[in-house]
Amino acid sequence: MTFEEARACVIERVTAGRVFAPPEEVLLESAAGRVLAENILADRDFPALARSVRDGFAVRAEDVPGTLAVIGEVRAGQRFEGAVGPGEAVEIMTGAPVPEGANAIVMVEHTTRGSDRSITTDRAAESGQFINPQGCEARAGETLLTPGKRLNFADVAALAAVGKARVAVCPKPRVALLATGDEIVPVTETPRDFQVRNSNVYSLATQVTRAGGIPVILTVARDEYQDTRRLVELGLASDLLLLSGGVSAGKYDIVERVLADLGAEFFFDRVLIQPGQPVVFGRVQDKFFFGLPGNPGSAMVTFELFARAALELLGGEARADLPLILAPLTRDFRHKTGLTRFLPATICWTAAGPQLTPIGWSGSGDVPALSRANAFLVADADRPEWKAGEWMRVLLK
Ligand code: AMP
Ligand code: MG
Repeated sequence: MTFEEARACVIERVTAGRVFAPPEEVLLESAAGRVLAENILADRDFPALARSVRDGFAVRAEDVPGTLAVIGEVRAGQRFEGAVGPGEAVEIMTGAPVPEGANAIVMVEHTTRGSDRSITTDRAAESGQFINPQGCEARAGETLLTPGKRLNFADVAALAAVGKARVAVCPKPRVALLATGDEIVPVTETPRDFQVRNSNVYSLATQVTRAGGIPVILTVARDEYQDTRRLVELGLASDLLLLSGGVSAGKYDIVERVLADLGAEFFFDRVLIQPGQPVVFGRVQDKFFFGLPGNPGSAMVTFELFARAALELLGGEARADLPLILAPLTRDFRHKTGLTRFLPATICWTAAGPQLTPIGWSGSGDVPALSRANAFLVADADRPEWKAGEWMRVLLK
């Protein structure tokens, strides 16, 4: 499968197979980052009446330029009792309701005050200028937010504006993280020279949290059938199971055998990408799982490309999109065609615009290089080279 086909497969399978848990209610203060589980309607017109968007004078457009009698003042939080008649103006502040009779605001900067409570402006005004009409942002009863949206700060403002002090959100999926490998030791242990510390469950836990899940870290499974099987069964108590390691073609890569014996259905077990080619996706006992390759770069990339989409959808999101952008390279780039490559890179914005620079790395186990990168450049499988200045896809980290 190509990278695009594999992603489409994940999205299709999880969308069709997910079961929604009943929503939970959170306080508005805790709503950001959660996935909305209810429809949010405007409870009144926004704005509720025509408002001024400038400090100045409410006038009749047909009366200016000219000199007008100031008959009063209206501030935000007040309403002017009366009407603006011919030759009259009401001093008005930003956010205040536009008085009856007025149809335009003249900015205070464009007026001079006379000694006799009058103002003069030498500018013409268009009807409606600097006025936000009633309901121009939303009409009462209009839908503002729909279920499946991950709430950002502007969404939280919308919730506050309609008076939602509590809001229904989707429960966070629990994601079991199971590292496999006889060489893997806990971070609290000093590894011998043939051992490595278990970094994958920590990078994966960070990625899970960021994608709206709750990581559940299991103990490391030995490269041995019974131990792996016992821990996989434990992991299936969560909503999603992520395994790291043990999915290559090596003699002790037994993850797929364990899953098959538990009755797993495999949707793919190889994708034309690098790093991460041996990535596995399937379903067992009504739970989706991913077998992520153990190399840290492979685990990170395959999580972002595939597991993240599954997790977002299980978390109730209506859609799962990859954060891809385009940026021009600072130097020539070439690779061998056949695989879509996701390689560590830095992207920055300079006075000349965005700049994408590949980072040298010694392969998908190179954690220091991954940590220096703030993005992955995406080298298309069917294109061998890019010249400096040519635009390339970038996956933001
Ligand atoms: P595997 O996919 O099991 O063949 O593992 C590939 C390589 O990834 C191994 O040589 C390990 O050095 C490394 N690796 C596997 N699991 C982890 C882990 N949990 N943390 C850090 N490195 C790992
Ligand atoms: Mg292994």
